[in-house]
Amino acid sequence: MTDNIKDKVIIITGASSGMGEATARDLAAKGAKLALGARRKDRLDTLVKDITDKGGEAIAVATDVTKLEDVQALADAAKDKYGRVDVIFNNAGLMPLSPLESLRIDEWNQMVDVNIKGTLYGIAAVLPIFKEQKSGHVINVSSVYGHKTVATGAVYCATKHAVRSLSEGLRQEVKDYNVRVTVISPGAVDTELTSHISEPGVGDQVRDFVSQIAVPASTMADMVSFAVSQPANVDVNEILFRPTVQP
Ligand code: NDP
Repeated sequence: MTDNIKDKVIIITGASSGMGEATARDLAAKGAKLALGARRKDRLDTLVKDITDKGGEAIAVATDVTKLEDVQALADAAKDKYGRVDVIFNNAGLMPLSPLESLRIDEWNQMVDVNIKGTLYGIAAVLPIFKEQKSGHVINVSSVYGHKTVATGAVYCATKHAVRSLSEGLRQEVKDYNVRVTVISPGAVDTELTSHISEPGVGDQVRDFVSQIAVPASTMADMVSFAVSQPANVDVNEILFRPTVQP
């Protein structure tokens, strides 16, 4: 389904790997104009080259979503380059699972900073643009773990519950500006996400579980396309998907 995607200006955070990268490739192939952000600029540059070599449009901006000025610069670059912004896909995230008693406080802070504050900074960067345009679409990424809580996931699950909550609050506040809000909650998807789990025992267990059931990152691209391609008066508020065999 490519209706309503061609020529849309779409910002993607966390575009250097996994679901952000897969979504970028898919939307570019459907004619969207992209502004891609992540910290690993070399990977973004390679992605932009791949996209432009195939006739697509994309720019890369080194972005740490824990810094408001970086996220603002990403949004400004999109507006400067393309003249407007239609969608922000707040996808950047981290999941260093561990039991609370391990007191991995640096990792708690990272999850709060990237998963919650990074999403809020994405909203802050585009909201004035969307209000002026009287149109826009915020797509946030939660998780199956934004719908339930598991041991070793207390902080991660809390951040993903928060993303759902702030998405619904945002939706209620901005609908009168013709701004759509979608929150997408994936289950196990084959990406680099579990590679950052440093807690002994937990990482191998989670990686083993995920590798047996995970669906490809392109599954997220299909979900984003579905939400973006709806007519402007249809807001897909929430999508929850997981591998069929996932509990
Ligand atoms: P990846 O690890 O492959 O991708 C995560 C992306 O986030 C990378 O591009 C990384 O880029 C970016 N990122 C991390 N920290 C920052 C930062 N400070 N600033 C900017 N970008 C950052 O994992 P996924 O594709 O799986 O993750 C995408 C989203 O999906 C996340 O929000 C995750 O929580 C969520 N999710 C994933 C599931 C899964 O099973 N894979 C399940 C449920 C939800 P870089 O390091 O270059 O900055």
